[in-house]
Amino acid sequence: MGDLKIRGYDCLVTGGAGFIGSHVCEALLAKGRSVLVLDDLSTGNLANLENCVADPGFSYTIGSVCDESLVAEAVDLCGSVIHLAAAVGVETIIRHPVETIEVNVRGTENVLRAAGRKGRRTFIASTSEVYGKGEALPFHEDGDLVFGATSRSRWSYACSKTIDEFLALAYSKARGLPVTIGRLFNTVGPRQSGRYGMVLPRFIRQALAGEPITVYGDGTQTRCFSLVYEVVDCILALMETRDSAGLAVNIGSTEEISIMDLAGLVRKKTGSASEIRLVPYDEAYPKDFEDMQRRVPDVSRLMGLVGITPGAGIAEIIDRILTSGRHPS
Ligand code: UDP
Repeated sequence: MGDLKIRGYDCLVTGGAGFIGSHVCEALLAKGRSVLVLDDLSTGNLANLENCVADPGFSYTIGSVCDESLVAEAVDLCGSVIHLAAAVGVETIIRHPVETIEVNVRGTENVLRAAGRKGRRTFIASTSEVYGKGEALPFHEDGDLVFGATSRSRWSYACSKTIDEFLALAYSKARGLPVTIGRLFNTVGPRQSGRYGMVLPRFIRQALAGEPITVYGDGTQTRCFSLVYEVVDCILALMETRDSAGLAVNIGSTEEISIMDLAGLVRKKTGSASEIRLVPYDEAYPKDFEDMQRRVPDVSRLMGLVGITPGAGIAEIIDRILTSGRHPS
């Protein structure tokens, strides 16, 4: 394993060894599609692919989406592309600001250039971060994007993903590339690690270890969490829908929960005696960090295109993670 096999694949999944990517691979293989993964294992992990490697329709290569010739070679071998490789998590963005911008911008540029040459059906993963500090809830794809100052490095993530979106739409308009952008809201589920800052796996790990559950700020900030399997179903359905080409589409649940309530629910579901500890933002993050207070998607475009949206509630999602046997690290 590890080398590109000289044959064709139905789909290239960049970032396929990551949390969402590995679930995408499993879903594609279950549909009988062959899959090639390109992943540099920066935040991905080959253990995530343990259910895929025995499948004869599966192969992977370890490398970066910043490697233009490798990306071109991989895209040439594949009939379609799901581009998920990116800098992941608020902690990565703060700790590795240069890599974040480079991977997100150059990586997507390489994928789009290669896909554009061959006219490949392409999905580009974007993020609800692009809505930034907007307050016009629920967030609609054609609404304004509101960012903070460049001195606050969090916004580099939103801006780099926004550039990705502009480039994808430019390829669609100017070159006719069938590309769809998915704006993923907080996606959670088995295999997600809390190491890169994500709140739900962190809370579950803390609760199971009997450590304090760390709620940043006053805990009134809200998020909508969606179950990874449902997000993957939406991504694959969008890939199969011609009408989604040339569009950005929100993918998320509309069930909103405050982070304080999330902490309480995790504590209850795990039967933990952990204390819930409020941590001021300036202790949790470097100076000048700005959090988003609320984030809710308008999913009417998604529903109109594919007829499904992520619907599992947060209580069910926590149960699914706890019974998966893969507790967050
Ligand atoms: N958060 C928290 N405790 C943690 C990690 C995160 O209270 O240990 C908060 C964080 O400040 C944010 C929310 O949980 O308000 C979601 O954070 P995450 O990094 O999971 O996602 P994002 O901010 O990108 O939505």
